[in-house]
Amino acid sequence: PLVLGIETSCDETGVGLVRGGVLLADALASSVDEHARYGGVVPEIAARAHLEAMVPTIERALGQAGLRHRDVDAVAVTAGPGLAGALLVGVAAAKAYALALGVPLHGVHHLAAHVAVDTLEHGPLPRPSVALLVSGGHSSLLLVPDLATEPVVPLGATVDDAAGEAYDKVARLLGMPFPGGPPIDAAARAGRADIPFPRAKAGDGTFDFSFSGLKTAVARWVEARRRSGEPVPVADVAASFQEAVADVLTAKAVAACRAHDVDTLVIGGGVAANSRLRALAALRCEAAGITLRVPRPGLCTDNGAMVAALGSLRVEAGVAPSSLELAATSALAL
Ligand code: ATP
Ligand code: MG
Ligand code: FE
Repeated sequence: PLVLGIETSCDETGVGLVRGGVLLADALASSVDEHARYGGVVPEIAARAHLEAMVPTIERALGQAGLRHRDVDAVAVTAGPGLAGALLVGVAAAKAYALALGVPLHGVHHLAAHVAVDTLEHGPLPRPSVALLVSGGHSSLLLVPDLATEPVVPLGATVDDAAGEAYDKVARLLGMPFPGGPPIDAAARAGRADIPFPRAKAGDGTFDFSFSGLKTAVARWVEARRRSGEPVPVADVAASFQEAVADVLTAKAVAACRAHDVDTLVIGGGVAANSRLRALAALRCEAAGITLRVPRPGLCTDNGAMVAALGSLRVEAGVAPSSLELAATSALAL
């Protein structure tokens, strides 16, 4: 069955088409430039942009795949978590589309979709796997039995800021644009990771994270430099911050695999696009005999393919569809 997936939880309008685990199209429209001068996503602007982009993005995805509306067998949509007004546009569009075509509707969880997208590149996930989910709003370790039919088991999560949020805040204090992940990743390539920023909660035996102290430590270090009149070595600060984040995330992810006797780690969410996180995870998984799966960077940040991927898993597994009463839930639990 051909599944059309719609993603509108934040500032990306994404439409993906997946058939039997094969990605056929992935169209994206972003309102990121409209938010840039505010230093973060403005909910009303995002919702309005989704409304304008929705139909053209669906048309673009169908065009990429050379398919027509009537070829679609099911519609999947992000039901939460995310910005309420933004989610509502996607959910309303998906309902209308499903109703008009007379096909089933599947509401899916945005974070589960960040994990499910990996199946498009690397095939079915072994069960159970451990997932490290690192995005703009979340940072969690999850035990994943079957994505389509069984709930994931949370092993730990950030107690304060998400990893992506820390990237965005540190970028801001270094004078880099929003979102901060890509410019920090780029700047870090020319830097040395020799500033000893803290690794909060490292080795504490939990699978929880904390990034707010790290952000404060970077801010203090940069302020002290500025006060002394010395230039701020931006590349070194970026590299050292990035190393601290990647170090804690990968150490805890490997520990979670060991603790649960799991031999596959999958990393998802926007921060999974980070080059140092990918490299360090590869090193540590290799050393621990763990198979690492990370989607290509373009599939880590928000997109429609991930929603179609999870929708496709549900359809193929025979999961009952959602009703047309499906709600957009900004704080949807996993
Ligand atoms: P959530 O999935 O928690 O609802 P979101 O959908 O806004 O949040 P994503 O699109 O999954 O988040 O990820 C966006 C985050 O990823 C931003 O914080 C951004 O800075 C970060 N990010 C993107 N690319 C990189 C990179 N190369 N290195 C580090 N962080 C990155
Ligand atoms: Mg985004
Ligand atoms: Fe996301």
